Amino acid sequence: MSTRAAMNPRCYNHPHRDAARRCDRCGVPYCEECLATVESQTRLCPTCCEEVAEARCYRKAMHLGVPARVTRVILKTLLAVVVIVGIILGMFYLVYLIAPPALMR
Ligand SMILES: [Zn+2]
Ligand SMILES: [Zn+2]
Repeated sequence: MSTRAAMNPRCYNHPHRDAARRCDRCGVPYCEECLATVESQTRLCPTCCEEVAEARCYRKAMHLGVPARVTRVILKTLLAVVVIVGIILGMFYLVYLIAPPALMR
């Protein structure tokens, strides 16, 4: 019944996807999206990228599509900035509401 599914290796990060190929270093199957190209022919998974040649690999990965982890960090930073700006604006607004005469004078 499930022999076909068992024969097709699945991406380590995306269990519902068929793996395109294996990482050249650790041999774990991944889909195209997960593997980064290093030196035009070597394909590495995100884990191996970090362990082997972080800077070099990262630039390549950026080129193919920003790694999920980087996107998450950027989103978190943006969210933090929005929250901090919101708090500061809120405090200014509160001060303005509480003590308008002092400010208006
Ligand atoms: Zn690997
Ligand atoms: Zn994947």
